[in-house]
Amino acid sequence: MTGTLKTTPIGPLIKEAALTPAVPLLDDRQRRYALRALKLPTAHPINELLPPTLRYGDGDAQPGQYSNNNLEWVEPDSDPKSIGQRLAKKLTLGLDIDPSEGCEIARTPKDQVFPGNIVIKPKDIAETEARNIYNAHNAALELVIWSDGSKLDTGGVGAGITWKRDNIWRQKGYPLGSTKEVFDAELYGIRNALDIAIKGGQLLKRSLQLARYPYNRVIVLSDSQAALQRAQNDQLGPGQTLAIEIIAKAQLLRDEGAEVTLQWVPSHIGIEGNERADKIAKEAASKPIPPGVDRYSSFSYIMRQVKAQKRLETRNWLYKVTYKGEIKKRNRAYTLTEPLELEPQVSTVRKPLAKRFYQLKIGHAITASYLHRIKRSNTPRCWWCNTAKQDIDHLLFECRRWSPQRRALYSDLRRLGITTPRMSEERPKNRLFNTPKAIKPILDFLNATNIGQRPKESEEEEENWDRLDRWDLDRLDSEEPGMTS
Ligand SMILES: [Zn+2]
Repeated sequence: MTGTLKTTPIGPLIKEAALTPAVPLLDDRQRRYALRALKLPTAHPINELLPPTLRYGDGDAQPGQYSNNNLEWVEPDSDPKSIGQRLAKKLTLGLDIDPSEGCEIARTPKDQVFPGNIVIKPKDIAETEARNIYNAHNAALELVIWSDGSKLDTGGVGAGITWKRDNIWRQKGYPLGSTKEVFDAELYGIRNALDIAIKGGQLLKRSLQLARYPYNRVIVLSDSQAALQRAQNDQLGPGQTLAIEIIAKAQLLRDEGAEVTLQWVPSHIGIEGNERADKIAKEAASKPIPPGVDRYSSFSYIMRQVKAQKRLETRNWLYKVTYKGEIKKRNRAYTLTEPLELEPQVSTVRKPLAKRFYQLKIGHAITASYLHRIKRSNTPRCWWCNTAKQDIDHLLFECRRWSPQRRALYSDLRRLGITTPRMSEERPKNRLFNTPKAIKPILDFLNATNIGQRPKESEEEEENWDRLDRWDLDRLDSEEPGMTS
């Protein structure tokens, strides 16, 4: 994929190809399998496999009884459910999921759809409509509620709603704990907005002795298109339970004779209702979740945890393999950096060029000293300038053959505010190849030179060479100065 030499160490190779190593990959697959089973309706036979405590929580649990290392309720035994228990254990082990609180429950869909309007218009139109929402000709008969959800860096999640009555802003905030996502909070906000509409309307109806529900129309404004789309039906998936409740509450309002509209509003552009809801949601997110509120882990939250766990395990694996657990003997030819995704700028260039980039980055490229070491050449001398040792640093930073191209590279780097390599710098190659802004200039430089290729070599010969190339890690490891142990 990256076109690196076969002698390339596996750690850097996996990292640069943005692959997931086998063990974290297998663990991730098992967790996803458990999550998939969990996301099926409870009536599904596969669910027999999972321990009920995973889904419903353990009501008898003492606070702190379940740590992630003490999951006796999911210990495999002779029970045929042990596979499910193993999977459940995989899902909770190491993940920040509190098994005593249970998980979001999937229900068998009844093909219900939202009994009103869900309106998502282009941004400029949505903005204009939201700004003029109180100027409608029958505004007095409309109840407008703004809703928002928030998740803080601390993990706290909250929902906030606000509405105007007698020209005074009213508000309510809902702390939702830390086992949910913004998506869940947005749905909570919409559901609770409809709840306020029902209860507030009934109260008004009684106190004013009205014959009917006091509003013709209830409008809930949310800045989450994902939540609005979720509320459209009761299909399986994250947020289903809240969608079902939103549909039921909208139906209740409809039965009272009110039309219900869920409307998208662009966020962070100073629309008062939306800004207020956002502030209330953030305040709620910083407060502890009160007793009695749904404390379960949502599917969105578990999904995020599963992804984070895969990243963590992959990172740990890469560090272990690349540096072999010893700080002092760190692989000097290569420095591990975030992110773990494939470098987009390199993905778009011709494959032979990308291949040279990765070979040089990982520190295992075709150089005279490399060929000499694997006995493919009888000298480590530079075949261009005859310097005693042609290694990667020589090619990139010293070789006279590529001086004009190097001047262009350095001027590109300076223009981008990137420090050019100095004699005193220990690993300028690693720094430059790990600087995203430097990648384009480096690719241009490589493209203008034959660095990383053998002299007068065609790409076809190069492929051939790769096939002949054999694993020879020990000799390569000592190629870099300081690597000899
Ligand atoms: Zn040279």
